[in-house]
Amino acid sequence: MSDWERSSTVRVVPPAHPRRLAKVPFVELADGRLQGVVSSGSDIERVYVSSVSAGSFTFACSTNNNRPCGGARGYFCNHIRALIGEAVLQYGAERVTRYLRVDLADHGEPSVLSLHAAMSAARPAQGDRSAAAPVFSRFLRHLAYLELAPTTAPLPEMQWFPPTRAVA
Ligand SMILES: [Zn+2]
Repeated sequence: MSDWERSSTVRVVPPAHPRRLAKVPFVELADGRLQGVVSSGSDIERVYVSSVSAGSFTFACSTNNNRPCGGARGYFCNHIRALIGEAVLQYGAERVTRYLRVDLADHGEPSVLSLHAAMSAARPAQGDRSAAAPVFSRFLRHLAYLELAPTTAPLPEMQWFPPTRAVA
């Protein structure tokens, strides 16, 4: 059984709003994590697979080629910040706060800023990258459904950026 077949049994929270295909083309609350795919600011051929675990806020960030993110050393990198921002857009700050089991305490109302502040204050440890491959596989499958549902054409793995809609 392949990774994506196995991961298809994971319970996924349906998003409240349609996905936007831009800086963060894929985000999900699944498998006890906020996880997704974040495009590189500088290189359109490169994406990062990022995740934050519920409760512990253990995080990981690596490229789709499984190279570690240079920014995710001891604190959230820009990709994870972007992932949190997109999750709040799609699911709402309250839902992300609940799913990740963030105690906002004196950090204010649920928002991107308070979520980030509360999780950072909890001193999250960097995690392993074992989730990256299944997350990226689900992302590719998601795009395959999104873009190629009516056809039987094979999906070229590196052409996951939809043409013009990627520009927000
Ligand atoms: Zn990163």
